[in-house]
This record gives sequence, C-alpha cells and structure tokens, in this order.
Amino acid sequence: MKLPDPTVIRTDVLVVGGGLGGVRAALRAQELGADVTVVEKAVISRAGPMTYVHSQFAPYKLLEGDELRQWMEEFVVGANYLADQEWLEVYLREAYFRVQELVHMGVPYVRDEQGRLKYSLVRGHKVGTTLGADGRATMEVLRRELTRRRVRLIEKVMVNDLLTTDGRHPTRDRICGAVGFHVRTGEPYLFLAKAVILNTGPFYPKIHYAYVDHCTGEGHAMAFRAGAELAGMEFAQYAAWSYFNRQFFTPGQAKIQGIGARFVNALGEEFMPRYDPIWGNFSGLFQVARAIATENLEGRGPCFVDMRHCSDEDLAVLYKVVPTLERAFKEFDIDPKKDLLRVDPFILIGTGSSSGVRVDLWSRASLPGLFAVGTCTHLPIMMTGISGSSLSTFSNVGGYRAGEKAAEIARQMAHHPPHDPQQVKELIAGFCAPLSRRGQTRPCDIWMAIGEVTAEAGFALFKNEARIARTRDRLREIRHMLLPRVTAPDVHELVKANEVANYLQMAEVACEAMLARKESRGELIRADYPYQDNDDWLRWIIVRRQGEGEGLSLSFWDLPYDRYPIPPKRGKVPLTFPIPEEYRVAPEAASERSMERRGA
Ligand SMILES: Cc1cc2nc3c(=O)[nH]c(=O)nc-3n(C[C@H](O)[C@H](O)[C@H](O)COP(=O)(O)OP(=O)(O)OC[C@H]3O[C@@H](n4cnc5c(N)ncnc54)[C@H](O)[C@@H]3O)c2cc1C
Repeated sequence: MKLPDPTVIRTDVLVVGGGLGGVRAALRAQELGADVTVVEKAVISRAGPMTYVHSQFAPYKLLEGDELRQWMEEFVVGANYLADQEWLEVYLREAYFRVQELVHMGVPYVRDEQGRLKYSLVRGHKVGTTLGADGRATMEVLRRELTRRRVRLIEKVMVNDLLTTDGRHPTRDRICGAVGFHVRTGEPYLFLAKAVILNTGPFYPKIHYAYVDHCTGEGHAMAFRAGAELAGMEFAQYAAWSYFNRQFFTPGQAKIQGIGARFVNALGEEFMPRYDPIWGNFSGLFQVARAIATENLEGRGPCFVDMRHCSDEDLAVLYKVVPTLERAFKEFDIDPKKDLLRVDPFILIGTGSSSGVRVDLWSRASLPGLFAVGTCTHLPIMMTGISGSSLSTFSNVGGYRAGEKAAEIARQMAHHPPHDPQQVKELIAGFCAPLSRRGQTRPCDIWMAIGEVTAEAGFALFKNEARIARTRDRLREIRHMLLPRVTAPDVHELVKANEVANYLQMAEVACEAMLARKESRGELIRADYPYQDNDDWLRWIIVRRQGEGEGLSLSFWDLPYDRYPIPPKRGKVPLTFPIPEEYRVAPEAASERSMERRGA
C-alpha cells in the first residue's frame, strides 16, 4: 500500500496533548519567544480528563517556614513516604503563583458571597486547600488564551511515536520530533522540533469512564519505545467507586468526599474507619474502592454513599463544580438529601497516583530534548499518594517549568537537530499496518481479552507473585497471538488498533514493575508481602527498554532521605487493610473454591 507523504511542521517546541499541563507549557514557551505547536488528539476543552476535573489544589497564600513544612508533611505521609521532597517543595512554593495566574486569565473558581475565592478541603488533606472550578470551563479559558496568543494548534491528530536523531529506538542520542496521524482522515504528520513536551494524560483501557477512553498511554509508550525511563509503574492501578445505582458514572468523587459524605454498607455500618483509621471517609480512591469490594466479597454489600446530612450550601457548590453530577441526579430521579446512592467499585491497570515518564525538577525526561508533564509522568510529588486535586496543579506547575526549559533549549539551538527519513517511513508503515491486514480480529476483541485477564479480583485487589506473573504472561500472549492479527477497515479502527497496542505494552510493563516491588504500598497490595517496608523499599523502580527487542531493565532509585526535611518512619508497617481469607491462599485453590461457592 502506498502511504501518502506526511504534512511537515517545523517548530521550536512541540507540545503533544492539550491538557492543562500542555497548554501551560505552550503558553510559557511562547511567552519566552519560542515558536510553539500544540498537537491534540481530540479538541481542547471538549475532551480529555481535564474537562472532568472539579477541584484544583491551591495554597491560599504563599507558603513559607513552618507552614510550608506542615503542608509538605501532609503530602509526604499521604504519599507513603515515596514523594520526591525536592519536587514537592518546588510544587508547594510555585503552586500559589500558577493558580493566581489562572485566576487572572479568568478561570471561574468558586467564590463566596463577598466575591472572594472560596478555598476548601478535599480528600487527603487536612491543611492543604483547593479551589473548585469546572474543568471544562478552565480549559475553555486556556484555549482562548492559546488563540489570543496565536499559538499554532493542530487538533484531531494522534501522535504515536517520537523521532530520534540517530534513527534508533531506543536511542543513544536525542529526541528531534514526532509522527502523528489525523484521526479522521489518516493523513500522516511529521513534526520536527528542538524540544518535545509530552502531555498525553493518563493511560486507561476503554471503559467509558472519566472522559479518558482516548487516553490509552501513547505518551508513556512512545517515550518507553524511544528509551526514556519510566517510574512508579508498579502503582499503575486505577480504582474508583463512582458507579452509582448501577446506572451511571460521574466525576466528583473527591468533592463528594470533601463535603462530608459517608460510606455505609447494607447493615448501615460506616465502614471506612475500619479500613483507613486515619482518613476514614476521606480516604483515597483506591482504599475506598477496595473497601467496598471487600464489604461485598464478605457479604455486607451492597454499599452506599450517604449525603443526606450534607448542607444545601455544600451541595450547591458540588453542583456548581460538577454540573454533570447534578444532571445525572435529575435524570435518574435522585435526591441526595433523601436517597442513599448505591456505589460499586472497579479496579483496572491504568494511571492511579503515579506511573509514567520519569522527570526531573524541570520536567525533563531522561532523554535529551524530551519533557513530560502532568499525568503521563510518574507524578513525583506523590508516587502513591491519596491527595485529591493535586494532580491538575502538578500539571500547572510542571507545565510552566517545562515550557521555560524547552524555550531555553530552543533558543540555544541554531538549527533543528537532524532526523532520519527512514525512521519516519518505518514508523508510519508500522502505524498503518492494520489497514492492509485481512481478518476479523478487531481492537475491541483485544480490549475484551485484556479486561478478562486483568479484572479478576485475585489480580486486581490482592496480588501475589504467581497471580501477577500469570496476568503478565496472559497479556504477553494477547500481544503475541492477537495483536499481529488486528485489522482496521478504516481510520477509526486504525486509531483504536494503535491505542490498544500502546495500552497493552504499558500494562505488561506495569506487571513487571509490580513483580519487582516486594512489599505492599499505596495502590499495590501484595498478599504475599502484607506490609509496607520502610527499611528496604523507600525507593523507586525505574523501568527502561533494553535493546531493540522486548527486553527491559529494572533499576532502583533510593530516595535521598539524608537531603530531605521530612524524615520517614522506618520499619515494617503491617497492612491495616484486611485481606479476605480466600485471597490469602494460592490462586489455583482460590479459584476452585470460588467455583464451588458459585455452585459450578
Ligand atoms: C476520575 C478522575 C478524577 C479526577 N479528578 C481530579 C480532580 O478533581 N482534581 C485534579 O486536580 N485532578 C483530577 N484528576 C486528574 C486530572 O485528570 C488531571 O489532573 C488533569 O486532567 C490534568 O492532566 P494533564 O495535564 O496530564 O492533561 P490531561 O487532562 O490528561 O490531557 C491530556 C490530553 O492529551 C491528549 N492526548 C492523549 N493522547 C494523545 C496523543 N496520542 N496525541 C495527542 N494528544 C493526545 C488528550 O486528548 C488530552 O486532551 C482526575 C482524574 C481522574 C481519572
């Protein structure tokens, strides 16, 4: 099949993905004189996880001295001591300015009757404050700003691979651009850039949740293929509890918790304090989802969220910042002042509170010329934390920093670095391969197979070495047996075929990292290591591709606690979280037992 020649765009700074982080990076680089191009797979402010966000971490003043330390401590403890405290300090100091800039741009944050910004608390914070704002409205303001400043914006183009100056993957040299495709016409794009900033968001399977069906990990996977380091991949577990009344999903979980909602089981017991004695109903998404699943498994389900005691004023703020929740309540005839809402959890391989491209304090990835911001990074301010709302502000701060450094690189380079035309050809041919195959295997078949392998409770909730290895092997089998047969009769399916390939690659990497961490921490619960080990495991697992084949290398980075202001609590901390009896035994025996229970 003859492939069309790509449209070529030369730019100083290429930003891939127009979430909050990408737009902030673009605006800052442009402000410093760089020629900037933002390429977005969908349409900015009409798609993507940021349109779903309802609250943004926002210090109510410039933090200093003891107060700064107190806020840091809240993050460090919430992050199970895995946060990079140097990044955290930068984040907490700069967040105030970055949010105030958004205020001046016109982001409609919630205000009180006197017109003052209304700061409030959300899940994971007892001191750290947030501001409520509809994420879609936030992105509309930022999009207007891009247009006003005439930043080049190319929408509906999916970027799938990075270019390297030596034409190799993994590279021994630097990143010099990217290739992408129009998601409607299939027209290829070649971007030549002095610096590339990835902001492709989280990686998720397609489960029609949280406006992220099209965020399948291209940023993660393209960085990995090019040889960049990833970190926190063992925590790539996303859990949520907001499948309401078995009828609808909506955003707003942190905010619902923030206004004081309570979780109760079928016996009317408030169960969260049992699972999380410190945070109780304010606990992290993962803890709440796992608690509900455990209540259900042990016969005390179904579970509910109770907002009947919440004030009208709090509910009004909730509706203002999460308008879809109010719409859903109306559509399904729910009155939260009278009705309990049934909640059902789900857990899958995908971005939780970390897992992505490893970045330094300037959002630089480990390859020259490459940056990453937002949820496609390993979120060094948390790694395994429970802080609600801090992620968008990490995009805000990290994006600004990336834009600043990328503009500096562009200024210092007289010419664009060279690229390899053969690499461009091969990458385009690889992307288009499903178009020329015959057969009936479609991307949705692969998603189905992945779902079956990863959703099983023994893997999703209570892992052990054998169960993780089995899941990894099954994912590998899907990649070897099914993926090469995927066909795409049109561009729509072609996009999906590449999305599922990227996700699958990252899901396997996640399993490798899960196997390597021999303890339980944050989103990773290992039934064979039922404790958090603060003697041996205050370290990050760094994953890199090794050679041109499938190999990967794992290494460790010990957190430099000798430099950090907040010391860790050393020792082994047993899991306070109960592991149901059936998941304490070998997987084979467990599955036989559950078959018996179901009467099979
Ligand atoms: C259920 C849920 C609730 C959340 N609630 C909150 C909250 O209340 N507060 C908060 O601070 N954070 C919240 N988050 C996190 C939030 O999504 C991020 O903080 C926020 O979206 C900013 O992320 P980002 O800058 O990485 O960009 P994103 O918003 O993730 O945007 C990434 C962009 O990249 C584009 N893209 C993806 N792939 C490609 C590609 N291949 N080529 C080109 N473009 C591509 C996407 O279309 C998207 O526009 C929540 C996340 C989830 C999943």
